[in-house]
Amino acid sequence: LAHDEAVRIGEPFAIYQPEITPVEILYTELREDIAANKLDVMFQPLYDLRKGEIVSVESLARWHTAAYGNVPPSDFVPFAERSDLIVPLTRWSLNASLRHAAALHRGGCPLDVAINLSPRVFAEQGFAEQLLGALEIWGVPAEATIVEITETALLTDLDMSVRVLRRLRDRGVRVAIDDFGTGYASFAYLRHFPATELKIDKSFVDAMLTDPRTEQVVRAMVEVAHRLDLECVAEGVENEETLLRLVAMDCDIVQGYHIGRPMHAETFVAERLAAAAM
Ligand code: C2E
Ligand code: CA
Ligand code: CA
Ligand code: CA
Repeated sequence: LAHDEAVRIGEPFAIYQPEITPVEILYTELREDIAANKLDVMFQPLYDLRKGEIVSVESLARWHTAAYGNVPPSDFVPFAERSDLIVPLTRWSLNASLRHAAALHRGGCPLDVAINLSPRVFAEQGFAEQLLGALEIWGVPAEATIVEITETALLTDLDMSVRVLRRLRDRGVRVAIDDFGTGYASFAYLRHFPATELKIDKSFVDAMLTDPRTEQVVRAMVEVAHRLDLECVAEGVENEETLLRLVAMDCDIVQGYHIGRPMHAETFVAERLAAAAM
């Protein structure tokens, strides 16, 4: 692939090498690009196995730098969390995601939208109110909004996370525990945590086909989710065989390359609205 082509289809490009160019060096660029709305939002579809249709999208951030090509979110999000950029990054991500979700709602294709949040932002005074305010401004119903929090991040300040998420839940916002199974103490907090869905981490979904014990673990996770009245989402579903096993386990929702890759939100929305108009 030519450079431009690689960038255009959103594949990671080899110019950015964290061991040579740590993301710290790009601090000023990241700050400026967030302020100038130069990051991109991708939407990846989630498919409801019982309804047999796409029910929601997960919003995923992309950052392309002129000098180093694409810097993956697995590098710049943790960096933003360690610096003061997580607050503007989150504000950008919320507004950009809701803007595209609102276009779907207005166009008569109301998909739910899932937004990744770092619990770091919960320390900000009035964060829940800001989020609820953004929903109102964009006209996206709270019930159609899911905030995704990773299991590990949750545990760093459990009390504060629970307080903020309760406030969001009270207003109808849904809460997903992301990367479930990769953190600690899962069962201890699951009992009290105001979640509505549980996302089984891709590492389990991946290993399921080749390792029978992992398959049993995934089966148990689906069962725990259901016993706690949580919807169960499996991420990283890359092939039909995995999908069929998840169907057999009574998993509710699947996400992964087999269903659809992350697409530029503009493109996703345009295609969706065009298909609905036919
Ligand atoms: P995540 O929340 O676990 O998101 C799922 C990741 O798996 C995404 O990587 C997605 O592109 C990838 N993925 C989805 N299906 C498949 C599949 O079938 N196979 C494979 N190999 N990968 C799949 P991505 O976009 O690179 O994001 C990485 C992480 O960065 C996310 O993990 C999330 O924790 C974080 N992130 C992304 N955007 C944002 C954002 O706007 N805000 C925050 N706070 N975090 C974000
Ligand atoms: Ca996520
Ligand atoms: Ca995830
Ligand atoms: Ca994951």
